[in-house]
Amino acid sequence: MAGGLRLWIEDVLGVIYPNVCEVCGVSLTRGEETLCLHCHVNLPRTNVHRDGFNVIHQRLAGKVPIERAGGYFYYYRESDYAALIHRAKYNGRPVIAERLGERYAREISGDGFFDGVDVIIPVPLHRLRLLRRGYNQSEAIARGVSKVTGLPVGNNLVARRGHSSQTRKNSYERWINAQNIYEVIDPGSLQGMHILVVDDVVTTGATLLACCEAIHDAQPSARISVLTLGVTHLR
Ligand SMILES: [Zn+2]
Repeated sequence: MAGGLRLWIEDVLGVIYPNVCEVCGVSLTRGEETLCLHCHVNLPRTNVHRDGFNVIHQRLAGKVPIERAGGYFYYYRESDYAALIHRAKYNGRPVIAERLGERYAREISGDGFFDGVDVIIPVPLHRLRLLRRGYNQSEAIARGVSKVTGLPVGNNLVARRGHSSQTRKNSYERWINAQNIYEVIDPGSLQGMHILVVDDVVTTGATLLACCEAIHDAQPSARISVLTLGVTHLR
């Protein structure tokens, strides 16, 4: 009876919020969520999370040692899958980011990716941008990862100022642009911790690098790993 009622409610809600695949738009069947089976199977997974020095490590190479680095799927602006990132970020749909974070965490947790990690810290948004957007997509991803792993989501990292859009900048300009934006609150609480820094997309790595550097400078004893949904192809 309760199950029947739940299905009835889902049907009614389905009329209000049509349950469609966020990539191709087909109607989802019961049990499917966010992606249809076809789009789930064909997601261009990077599978880099097992490599000790992968494409994400390369982009973050510098003074901060990065332990593990995972990125869910390759991200091309022309690809149908780009819609996932766009919708998670700009369409007021943080639930997409959360579900993808959950899905990715479920796929890689068996490989030990989260072993020994103590806390998840999302890349913060400056409060003005947060006000405008209403949510932080990286925090939504972190929430999804937390649901699967049980790890807490920390709010030790804050954006001291906003930065101008990174989209039209080259690597060096992005790096300069992202410098000195992030600040660690209460670094003492991160002593000896293994921190997983979460962002939506890694492009040149400038934003993630700036976050990792801020954490490393404030608390050098912390170990740092990173996780993103999208990994762009650099031209
Ligand atoms: Zn689909």
